[in-house]
Amino acid sequence: MATNNCDVVVIGLGPGGEATATALAQAGLSVVGIDERLVGGECPYFGCIPSKMIIRAADALAEGRRIGDLAGSSEVRPDWAPVATRIRDEATDDWDDKVAVDRLEDAGVRFVRGHARLAGPRTVEVDGQRFEAARGVVLNPGTAPAAPPIDGLADTPYWSNREVLRIESLPASLAVIGGGAIGAEIAQAVSRFGVRVTVLEVADRILAPEEPEASALVADVFGKEGIQVLSEVKIASVSYDDGHFSLDLGGTTVEADKLLVAAGRKPNLDELGLDTVGLDPSARSVEVDERMRAGEGLWAIGDVTGKGAFTHMSMYQSAVAVRDILDQDGPTADYRAVPRVTFTDPEVGSVGMTEKQARDAGLNVRVGLTDLSASARGWIAKAEGLVKLVEDADRGVLVGATAVGPSGGEILSMLTTAVHAEVPTATLKSMIYAYPTFHRAVEDALGKLA
Ligand SMILES: Cc1cc2nc3c(=O)[nH]c(=O)nc-3n(C[C@H](O)[C@H](O)[C@H](O)COP(=O)(O)OP(=O)(O)OC[C@H]3O[C@@H](n4cnc5c(N)ncnc54)[C@H](O)[C@@H]3O)c2cc1C
Repeated sequence: MATNNCDVVVIGLGPGGEATATALAQAGLSVVGIDERLVGGECPYFGCIPSKMIIRAADALAEGRRIGDLAGSSEVRPDWAPVATRIRDEATDDWDDKVAVDRLEDAGVRFVRGHARLAGPRTVEVDGQRFEAARGVVLNPGTAPAAPPIDGLADTPYWSNREVLRIESLPASLAVIGGGAIGAEIAQAVSRFGVRVTVLEVADRILAPEEPEASALVADVFGKEGIQVLSEVKIASVSYDDGHFSLDLGGTTVEADKLLVAAGRKPNLDELGLDTVGLDPSARSVEVDERMRAGEGLWAIGDVTGKGAFTHMSMYQSAVAVRDILDQDGPTADYRAVPRVTFTDPEVGSVGMTEKQARDAGLNVRVGLTDLSASARGWIAKAEGLVKLVEDADRGVLVGATAVGPSGGEILSMLTTAVHAEVPTATLKSMIYAYPTFHRAVEDALGKLA
């Protein structure tokens, strides 16, 4: 086997891996970047970008339908063709990563396409080549769609995110297993194009990791838009016959033309040779310290670290790992203020702890909750939403916050600053909030902390 020497090997070029390889090469190191699929990972081809293009289109339809209430009359006739074209041509280059590979190589990275495995400390093998990395190896292998062990499911042609984001036409009906962020976003978006949608969730509410008030509000909007939401379901079996799916819920049956499974992700760790560096290949995540070190000459970033499966987390951890590899000063990883946004309409933006997490952590909690219509902007826009603040009363700082509304993810920015920088609640109360903005609801929620 041919052996090559380099400074760093990056396995998996998701958002963080691509950024890491690029930054290290630009800093003068000799870097090998390896990916078996597409450079850029899940986000640009099968995740964030195409899903948000669909949501942008669906929001336009919803806005058109609001004209009747506000400004006269409108007739909205949805057409999926521009959405499919935009995803294929603008977002993904027909699922071709040439531009990303060129960008990587222009930055000085040696790119290898193939499945990489660790073969001991600082050693990687890919397609008959061995790389000895003097400084070490960065792991960014990400995750793949997972399916729950439901009887019959594996034998059906169900969709995961990788198929649903490539469809050229819409079905008449869609069942969605999983009411988390991915399932909820796609469910609402395609429903606005006229698809009859049923969401099946095993937990007692959709968006289960979020505040219960946020879940209830989104479920209520889904109901008003005609999306059927079934919570606490147990799916006994799934079958497929004559172009139709049938989901047996033990007594009742849900029928649909297509089935999307959005019920979790599987870390790409089992075929990575983790055992050769003393790590457990069957673990759900790779344990890392605050510098993203997973061992001697080994770093891990992105979804597999279990700190939050978000593109911004992958990029954040990349910056931390790059500083460590280059021996540069700078902040280490801090997860107190991780922001997350579910791009339903209304959007759910949240940061830090939920009320329950704060109480479970033993904090002396005060909560402030307000309706978005408490802001004049919310009332004018006839917007549905809320702001919920979670304060550590002993320290007088926010430890968590949720903003649900038309711009929930944008209102979140000031709340993320507050949680991250531990801005005293008293200071937040003393600020001036522009009129009439959605974020004036934050001021109202601060006044309600109790
Ligand atoms: C439908 C959907 C919507 C999403 N929306 C958002 C959103 O709005 N905002 C957000 O922040 N996040 C979103 N995410 C999550 C986001 O896509 C991921 O968190 C992000 O891609 C970061 O993942 P990562 O860096 O861990 O690696 P990934 O993006 O998963 O990339 C890992 C790469 O490693 C490669 N690889 C794996 N194993 C090997 C190996 N052994 N050898 C060679 N290559 C290997 C893979 O081919 C892949 O290219 C969404 C995800 C989905 C599925």
